Amino acid sequence: MDYYSNQISRLIEELSCLPGIGSKSAARLAFHLIHMPQEDVNRLAATIVEAKQNVRYCKECCTLTDQELCPICSNSKRDHKTIMVVENTRDLAAYEKTGKYDGVYHVLHGAISPMLGIGPEDIRLKELIGRLEGDVEEVIIATNSSLEGETTAMYISKLIKPVGVKVSRIASGVPVGGDLEYIDEVTLLRALEGRTQL
Ligand code: ZN
Repeated sequence: MDYYSNQISRLIEELSCLPGIGSKSAARLAFHLIHMPQEDVNRLAATIVEAKQNVRYCKECCTLTDQELCPICSNSKRDHKTIMVVENTRDLAAYEKTGKYDGVYHVLHGAISPMLGIGPEDIRLKELIGRLEGDVEEVIIATNSSLEGETTAMYISKLIKPVGVKVSRIASGVPVGGDLEYIDEVTLLRALEGRTQL
């Protein structure tokens, strides 16, 4: 039985498609939105639409940004010869929060997973290899320590070694399967400082 008006039901349905939002949370959010002042709802809706329209991949490191080059790639004070490879933009943010890394990044947007049918061509690897033609001294592989992250790290190191660029892997200590995003800064820094050459 449908207790709600058609439009409320539709709103609940749309919200429940978002990750981590079950039907109960969706209903709570829907009623919250309905009770919000009109201008606040307009601003929220416009922010979503604008972000979706303007956010794209940085042409250098592939992170999500609303500029052609992200703020890190366009910063001349960063060490552009050191590239840290991460799985996603949230992992990049986790390292940035430590404030102790001054190199640049490369965001893969995923990891190789034969189980899920995700191959090397499905992540932003080609772009990484392209960057090695420039002046690069070290590539630090900071993919997660999950099976997929390790597979990806192995693959990348095999790909890069023949190019003659130093390749290192962040130290374990980052919990297996752990999302870098949820790991505290001290652990992240230790993992970075304790990196080993592959
Ligand atoms: Zn960038």
